[in-house]
Amino acid sequence: MAEEPVVAKLLEGNRSYVASDWDPADRELASPPALKLAVVACMDTRHNVEKVLGLKHGDAKVIRNAGNLLDDGALRSLVVAVHLLGVRHIAILGHTKCGMTLVGQGEFRIAKSIAKTTTTPLADAMRPDFQRWLGGFADPSDNVRRSVQLVANHPFMPKDLEVIGLLYDNENGQVAVVRP
Ligand SMILES: [Zn+2]
Repeated sequence: MAEEPVVAKLLEGNRSYVASDWDPADRELASPPALKLAVVACMDTRHNVEKVLGLKHGDAKVIRNAGNLLDDGALRSLVVAVHLLGVRHIAILGHTKCGMTLVGQGEFRIAKSIAKTTTTPLADAMRPDFQRWLGGFADPSDNVRRSVQLVANHPFMPKDLEVIGLLYDNENGQVAVVRP
């Protein structure tokens, strides 16, 4: 049997959502999130950020990428969140067993896959800064500390902004504060 096309699954899911879960009050949620909070988290599918932190819909702006990195995309979103959307607290949520600790070993595999599935030759994929661009790291706690420092000291960020480092434990679901 042919696999169900993803788009059909998504639209079917949305029909169920509209029929049962859509809340008209969502239209009225204020632009500043209720807790004036933004969370930068990893895209890892094993944790649901809102559930892990007990957040309700509308409590926080949640920004996710591979490795909860403060790359240009995340920083741009934080600048908008702080200067346009009333955010005053930023939490960087890392997690144990992050796949981005393995990117160093997987670098060649990623480059080979790029060469095999696109018109980019292997030599171009393996450009000298490829690993740095991928953003791998060895220790998830150190990565959170680095991100906290980066946001706290960023020239676009107000001095009274609260920046919090957190680490989710993939084994027991607990979140701990990452001290500087
Ligand atoms: Zn991760």
